[in-house]
Amino acid sequence: MSILVVGSVAFDSIATPFGQVEEVLGGSASYFSTAASFFTDVNLVAVVGEDFPREHIDYLNSRNIDLSGLQQSSGKTFRWKGRYDYNLNEAHTLETHLNVFEAFQPDIPDHYRNAEYVFLANIDPELQLDVLNQVSNPKLVACDTMNFWIAGKRHELIRTLAKVDILVINEAEVRQLADEPNLMKAAEIVRGFGPQTLVVKRGEYGVLMFGEGSIFSAPAYPLEEVFDPTGAGDTFAGGFVGYLAATRNLDEHNLRKAIVFGTVMASFTVEKFSLDRLKELDYNEIADRYRKIKLLTDFADIE
Ligand code: AMP
Repeated sequence: MSILVVGSVAFDSIATPFGQVEEVLGGSASYFSTAASFFTDVNLVAVVGEDFPREHIDYLNSRNIDLSGLQQSSGKTFRWKGRYDYNLNEAHTLETHLNVFEAFQPDIPDHYRNAEYVFLANIDPELQLDVLNQVSNPKLVACDTMNFWIAGKRHELIRTLAKVDILVINEAEVRQLADEPNLMKAAEIVRGFGPQTLVVKRGEYGVLMFGEGSIFSAPAYPLEEVFDPTGAGDTFAGGFVGYLAATRNLDEHNLRKAIVFGTVMASFTVEKFSLDRLKELDYNEIADRYRKIKLLTDFADIE
């Protein structure tokens, strides 16, 4: 079953302690779509400028990502500039240039409108809601956001969250959104905004999933070298929602499997800049890391 995703398609300039790159392909929707495309078909909604090269379009096409919802407008593509210190869990945003996103009005192609699985990747929450209003009757709506929007468009974000089933968000952002330092309490407050399931991304410490009366914890895949964490969250979401859409099953057991597939996908993205590691990935490597995470967390019942 295909997924409709709206999010950013960007040029990223990134510096980590291990290297730096200028204007590489990034954006929440690019990472999400590429990761999800290992599991199912993806219909993408976004905007790029006149400066967006054919090479990137060809790559996304090569992953079977439907680009009929990718508008090309006059102006410049969205740009994000960030830096990481040795604590790779924390991105420092240096510059955000919305560019063509400022005037973007999503126009969902007809064949996207009956999407059963929708992912609102990190983007202006007003645009997220606009897309949702053009979709007829989705079975699952999942959503991501970030501190930039929690601080700048809190009211709009809370309106969007009322229509969301699963929110995928960083630990610090849950606290910021709930205005509550304790994570357990913050999770309940945020679930109260609408999403019955909350997935909290904790960087190298893994993921916590909060449901009605349940919590699931998954570790991150233990890597010896993390090169650039940019896109880890969006890639996680792509694996997570991609697996759910492919299996068409939203029970707790399957949600947990999907969390581990998301974790595995993110572990590849952080090994190289941009989409470079995902570009060379094959499904056997994904399955291998899935089994290793299972072993990592396996322990016996109490006597
Ligand atoms: P993450 O998965 O959280 O590391 O997200 C990284 C991606 O988010 C980068 O490729 C950026 O282009 C994109 N990004 C950064 N800031 C924003 C923003 N304000 N709105 C949409 N996308 C953004």
